Amino acid sequence: MKYIPVIGLEIHAELMTETKAFCGCSNSFGQDKNSNTCPVCLALPGALPVLNQKAVQLAISAGLLCGSEITPITIWDRKNYFYPDLAKAYQISQLYAPICVGGGLEVNGRYIRFNRIHLEEDAGKLLHERGSSIIDYNRAGVPLIECVTEPDIRSSDEAVEFVEKFRRILIYGDICDGKMEQGSLRVDANISIMPENSIALGTRAEIKNINSFRFLKRAIEFEIERQTELLSNGGRIVQETRRYDEVSGETFSMRSKEDAHDYRYFPDPDVLPLIISAEDVEEIRNTLPEPPNKRYDRYVNKYMISGRDADTILAERATADFYDAVINEGADPKAAANSIKGELLRLLGEKAVKEIPVSPKDFAKALELASNLKISQDGLKAAITYMFQTGEGIDKALKEKNLIITENQDLIKAVIAEIVAEDPDLATRYKAGENKLFSYLFGQCMKKLKGKALPQSINLELIKELTE
Ligand code: ADP
Ligand code: MG
Ligand code: ZN
Repeated sequence: MKYIPVIGLEIHAELMTETKAFCGCSNSFGQDKNSNTCPVCLALPGALPVLNQKAVQLAISAGLLCGSEITPITIWDRKNYFYPDLAKAYQISQLYAPICVGGGLEVNGRYIRFNRIHLEEDAGKLLHERGSSIIDYNRAGVPLIECVTEPDIRSSDEAVEFVEKFRRILIYGDICDGKMEQGSLRVDANISIMPENSIALGTRAEIKNINSFRFLKRAIEFEIERQTELLSNGGRIVQETRRYDEVSGETFSMRSKEDAHDYRYFPDPDVLPLIISAEDVEEIRNTLPEPPNKRYDRYVNKYMISGRDADTILAERATADFYDAVINEGADPKAAANSIKGELLRLLGEKAVKEIPVSPKDFAKALELASNLKISQDGLKAAITYMFQTGEGIDKALKEKNLIITENQDLIKAVIAEIVAEDPDLATRYKAGENKLFSYLFGQCMKKLKGKALPQSINLELIKELTE
């Protein structure tokens, strides 16, 4: 029997706020253990939570960018569970009235729906070191959105593309930094399979806390295979929570899946319901930056660059911002795209820090010089590399690398004469009709005159020389 995979994702994204969700502690990653803590996020007796408005704004922004409806009255629920990463023994979350409902994203022509996006606080982190366990509460209380899709995804590739697209939206919206390796973005994948013509969904397994695209793809594929084999052999899938082992590439059962009622959800009496007016929503909508899909349309339809190039430029926001800045300086969009793709990304690829040390103005100037044939294409590359590596401007680059073409007709003639003299037979054969030798001779001249003459001039001079 043929089975169809069914996948639904829960994406946890930590919000880029200054402070935590319900206290004034700093929300910064990589600090000394337990240094970002206070009575509220350590759950000391009597401490009361105060909602961070910025977190609300970012959660609404995420919803608006994905076409969700914003809930006018949002309430807070306690999700109770006992585990040392949670000092209160409950998490403040939203079950009954999530802040955003519906919406979705198109991936390769298929629309993947969001069920909801809700706001909650993160738990602390357990670190197991040398036989003992340490609890770090720096992450406890960090605001995050849990973004739950409908079970609309049908393959591992589609799941990866969906998360990539959503991640890009969050990064462009300054909502989440998207750093999966730091745990800012984590994915739970729910996977089931069903017989080809079935309308009823199968029993799902939930794979927790996947923190890279590669692992997401592999975990889903492993799980589809495991379930297919099980069902094909007359077995039965149990609803359970599994973890993905990065070394073996397999998933392992952790526990049977808990249901909502296991968490004894109830409204949190410490936090007041949040009332969001239509005006509030409009105000936030007006502050939204241009999302990556709109930028894509602008690049392809207005600047006429290829979809492939647009994607390459949009992959990192720093690159896209740089591209826009270069165009604002008056550069030709196509030339700018080519040089960014060809030179800049190659140079950036060698660096750990993705910061662009070239000013858009100097970059635009270099492009203009090349289009006016004041410097050669090789000279353009050299100028970009020099500016990138030294942090100097275009004027210094032109001078240091001697890039401005000052044509000297005598020099061109001399070089041609030299090349003909090296192998006089070539010229004779060309004159006798071996046309294809021209490009070889031309190439030799270009090599010797690199950066000192325009190709057009070399071409003219060489024709003159060879037809004399
Ligand atoms: P829970 O909170 O218990 O994990 P939810 O109802 O919120 O349960 O669903 C969690 C995720 O599981 C959603 O992304 C949903 O799309 C997905 N899901 C639900 N049923 C299935 C199924 N049969 N196969 C695959 N995914 C499913
Ligand atoms: Mg879940
Ligand atoms: Zn705190």
